[in-house]
Amino acid sequence: SHDIWEVHPEDLTLGQELGSGQFGLVLEGRWRGKRVAVKMIREECMSDEEFKEEARVMMRLSHCKLVQLYGVRTHCSPMCLVFEFMENGCLSDYLRARKGRLSQDTMLGMCLDVSEGMAYLELSNFLHRDLAARNCLVSKNNEVKISDFGMTRFVLDDQYTSSQCSKFPVKWSAPEVIKYCKFSSKSDVWSFGVLMWEVYNEGRLPYENRTNGEVVESLNSGLRLLKPRLAPDAVHQLMEWCWKEVGTGIKQIPSRQNNILYHVDKYL
Ligand code: ADP
Repeated sequence: SHDIWEVHPEDLTLGQELGSGQFGLVLEGRWRGKRVAVKMIREECMSDEEFKEEARVMMRLSHCKLVQLYGVRTHCSPMCLVFEFMENGCLSDYLRARKGRLSQDTMLGMCLDVSEGMAYLELSNFLHRDLAARNCLVSKNNEVKISDFGMTRFVLDDQYTSSQCSKFPVKWSAPEVIKYCKFSSKSDVWSFGVLMWEVYNEGRLPYENRTNGEVVESLNSGLRLLKPRLAPDAVHQLMEWCWKEVGTGIKQIPSRQNNILYHVDKYL
């Protein structure tokens, strides 16, 4: 075939169920001698023609802090997406399971992993649009990698895609995203700040007892998430900086390369 990204059925073995998500079941599998995670896409959940175009772009994104998309099986129903396998599951569950046992180095290392991956996405002119601990996965060496980048664009569920609706990730979203759906690398930085907050709160949900409406109101009046007990001042400052309104300062994805998080590291 002319399409090098097409996964052929004879190369793919499917195994047990790993979980289920927005698009349907996720199964363990084997592909070309590698352990993989296979997302079986329920047809009514995804605008798949648009996705097939974008899959080519996504497969070219390749970085050690991104969960690699290896290939797509489009010549069959259901369509399948084949990803790098992540032994330790999603970051939010991982944090909750290790509550009270996470060292400062571990927590900062997790933020650094994500910031490195995000810096790569920014450099590639690719927006995540739904960065959160639930959309990061943990490898067998406890390295954190970013998953589900750009995927919300293909969700067909209305409840998910409009900021007025119940499933929209308001608690991770920048004000301009909530108001006008204006996504940018700056709005990804906002979400990165919330992700840091999740890490230093050991997987707690942000604004736990508040509705989306209440969150929007308190953001509008300038209130922000509080400093996590475990977060050093320097890390908290970085969070606050992620949550500045656009137009009030330069926002750059903190990364090992641009040395912003690296400096924090030194001042801890
Ligand atoms: P969706 O993006 O469709 O909402 P998720 O990414 O949330 O689906 O996946 C659902 C579950 O499947 C996750 O919580 C995780 O346990 C498992 N999973 C997803 N991707 C992988 C992967 N690459 N490696 C291992 N497990 C995975």
